[in-house]
Amino acid sequence: MAYQHIVVPSEGEKITCLDDRSCFPDHPILAFIEGDGIGADIMRASKRIWDAAVEKAYGGQRKIAWMEIYAGEKAAGLYGGDYMPEETFEALREFKVGIKGPLTTPVGGGFRSLNVTLRQVLDLYACVRPVQWYRGVPSPVREPQNVNVVIYRENTEDVYAGIEYQAGTPENEKLAAFLRDELGAKFFEGSGLGIKPISAFGTKRLMRAALRYALERGRKSVTIVHKGNIQKFTEGAFRNWCYEVAREEFGDQTITEDQLWDDYNGQLPEGKILVKDRIADIMFQHMLLRPKEFDVIVAPNLNGDYLSDAIAAEVGGVGIAPGANIGDSVALFEATHGTAPKYTDLDKVNPGSLMFSGVMMLEFLGWQEAADLIARAYERTLDQKTVTYDFARQMDGATEVRTSEFATALIGNMDAVLA
Ligand code: NAP
Repeated sequence: MAYQHIVVPSEGEKITCLDDRSCFPDHPILAFIEGDGIGADIMRASKRIWDAAVEKAYGGQRKIAWMEIYAGEKAAGLYGGDYMPEETFEALREFKVGIKGPLTTPVGGGFRSLNVTLRQVLDLYACVRPVQWYRGVPSPVREPQNVNVVIYRENTEDVYAGIEYQAGTPENEKLAAFLRDELGAKFFEGSGLGIKPISAFGTKRLMRAALRYALERGRKSVTIVHKGNIQKFTEGAFRNWCYEVAREEFGDQTITEDQLWDDYNGQLPEGKILVKDRIADIMFQHMLLRPKEFDVIVAPNLNGDYLSDAIAAEVGGVGIAPGANIGDSVALFEATHGTAPKYTDLDKVNPGSLMFSGVMMLEFLGWQEAADLIARAYERTLDQKTVTYDFARQMDGATEVRTSEFATALIGNMDAVLA
């Protein structure tokens, strides 16, 4: 289709589907949204790193054709005040895979979060956050190397569905009267009211995606995290529907904890994935005290939100935690932190979160050699204590460098990794 401001690169091929690696060409067109605030600095540095890794890993046989698309302040400047132009959605639907920097949510004026809008309009139902420690990253825990999980958080339902009624409004009073008079519910006068929908459809597609990922990557377990002991028909149903998918659609490849002990004496048989569940509150403790027991984690929206940031903190915080929002027809990788506006254009911040989101994107494409090259060069750079300000203030003897200098150092280390 013809775009108003988006320029489709003349070299490069379109990705035509997401569920089959053969749909990924060697010269794919990948979309990027630069992002607001620190977005320009970290996107510039990260693109240099991704391109260098692909070039060094494949010697020109593979190459990314970058296509800039617009959202946030840059879009508002180009599209007459429109922060989220329709053609951005169109381009993501057409080209399927993209990566984005952080976006400001303008305060006031009835703006919805641009990030939430992107997820909902494109139905990016799985928020995927791999959390693992890289050698040298400052961490508040003693053994961060034991944390290596991938969180699949539901992205479209739960209290994020936006079904809320402010106390004192006619809608609230109507709903309150219905709940009290028709259903016998009891709650204080003047309560704000919110509805938490969790569906079989939304839950099952998430669990399916998590199990497929676990199978593809040789992961050992999938843990369903929920608060079903209290919220039986939402969180409890989430747990039951997840088990249903495992049993009915992946029965040959999964076993439950009961089967593990009754039939296999506690030893996971080769080629099987253990499906288990944990109550949300104790899961936070487990992730601190026994992180080795967890691998892929599946959670509803709100609990998944809390858990993702808490686990990320164990390996260095959201400053380097990568993420992606993935649906059936679009995958959008993204930095998990915000726009840190006070650092805009200072070439100062850590590009790690965006850079590792790009590593996820390379893995998604099946370009594992390039992804591994970045991870290993990153560890070498940290071994040399060459870091941005945020890590420098937590490390003794560190050399503080700019965002662009960090990228240069990391790219330089790729040759040493390959040697
Ligand atoms: P933030 O932008 O994440 O920044 C909070 C603090 O985190 C920064 O001041 C900085 O800490 C640290 N930080 C963030 N990114 C860093 C990086 N790359 N390297 C090193 N340190 C980093 O959160 P915020 O100030 O609450 O939000 C600002 C704006 O971002 C808001 O408009 C919000 O809506 C938006 N936001 C967007 C997204 C998204 O696009 N996904 C996510 C969250 C927030 P120090 O001050 O200690 O140096």
